[in-house]
Amino acid sequence: MKRRIALVDVNNFYCSVERVFQPKYNGVPLVVLSNNDGCVVARSSEVKSLGVPMGMPWFQMKDLARQHNIVALSSNYTLYGDMSARCMRVIGQFAPPEDQEVYSIDESFVDFTHQPQLDLTAAGQAIRARVRQWTGLPVCVGAGQTKTLAKLANHIAKKQPEWQSVCDLTSASTETIAAAMASIEVREVWGVGRRIATRLLPMGVHTVADLRDADPRRMREQFGVVLERTVRELNGVACLDLEDMQPKKQIIASRAFGAPVYDQAELAESIREYMARAVRKLRLQGGAAGMVGAWVETNRFREQDAQYSPSATIPLAMPSDDIATLTAAAMQVLRAIYRPGFRYVKSGVMLLDLSDKTMQQGDLFASAMQPINPRRELLLATVDRANNRWGRQTIGLGSSGLQLSPAWAMQRSNLSPAYTTRWAELPVIRH
Ligand SMILES: [Mg+2]
Repeated sequence: MKRRIALVDVNNFYCSVERVFQPKYNGVPLVVLSNNDGCVVARSSEVKSLGVPMGMPWFQMKDLARQHNIVALSSNYTLYGDMSARCMRVIGQFAPPEDQEVYSIDESFVDFTHQPQLDLTAAGQAIRARVRQWTGLPVCVGAGQTKTLAKLANHIAKKQPEWQSVCDLTSASTETIAAAMASIEVREVWGVGRRIATRLLPMGVHTVADLRDADPRRMREQFGVVLERTVRELNGVACLDLEDMQPKKQIIASRAFGAPVYDQAELAESIREYMARAVRKLRLQGGAAGMVGAWVETNRFREQDAQYSPSATIPLAMPSDDIATLTAAAMQVLRAIYRPGFRYVKSGVMLLDLSDKTMQQGDLFASAMQPINPRRELLLATVDRANNRWGRQTIGLGSSGLQLSPAWAMQRSNLSPAYTTRWAELPVIRH
């Protein structure tokens, strides 16, 4: 069966979220800065075209900022996490839960293989229109026979205006696909990156088309199995579990359940499992998370069911890669959002505000970064079990390290309000 995979990706996600609530920033060059207002973690298209790279320290670009009136905002992960959840729910209306894979805070794969009658260009436009109308966010949609091709299609949808933000390579002619691939540099391919691209150039591999036509075995000898699979994926052979391909800015682990779940203990079990997976990825890329999110979902396709699909995020006092700390935070979120009486079909966790573990600020915070302590794990699991069995407040931690970060701990000089998650900060249209 020919697979039909779409990738829906929000354009300049953090900047676009800020613009939803502050339309005056439309058309204005905009950056979002990391915690403590350190480095650029998101750029609007205007800033990208000024040549500002990701990760640039803010103090280094102050002159440029003055010259071009660049607006800098502090990162508001509570807002981004909530807007992401809303956006993903809208996208999820187009396919059953098992066919949607939320891949990152602003990217979702949707497998349309089981809806062969659907015109993917029309479906892509419908997704775009509904996400725009219901959340205010702009997305592009790309579709292909593999995830790598869907990712490439999304790139084309973003960069080539004639596609009007939706590019379906599954129905494009061979010539169209060949022309598109010949016009895109090889480093744009998912998982290739600048370093591999530099090594590919002397081998005559300059464009995506060159890589598609490269000898997979040779690529394997030179670069390893991942690039070999990428070549096969570009040829339409799905063979990648792409999850671990590159360091990510957020990590998400989520899956539809085999059978519906009703009670909190079972949801907690799933979240614990997904968190273990997310932490494995986090540690693989040497990262630490500053914020933890979790969500649960009912099946919106079952109209006879009461619907409830909440999500929330919680900041950590210190970035952490400790499975016990991160799991405890996710459990805290679950306790806050769980309501009994619903037929849940899916849950997920999200690690946000990621930083490089080696870049942490030295010994002062060393205790937050200690490796997994099996005794502590056991302790937390026991606490959870006791609370599940005898009620929530049976055993609590004296100091969990999970208190909301006090205002003085973090410099966020230009932070937007929590428009969507705090009543006191609802956007005001008119006074
Ligand atoms: Mg994006």
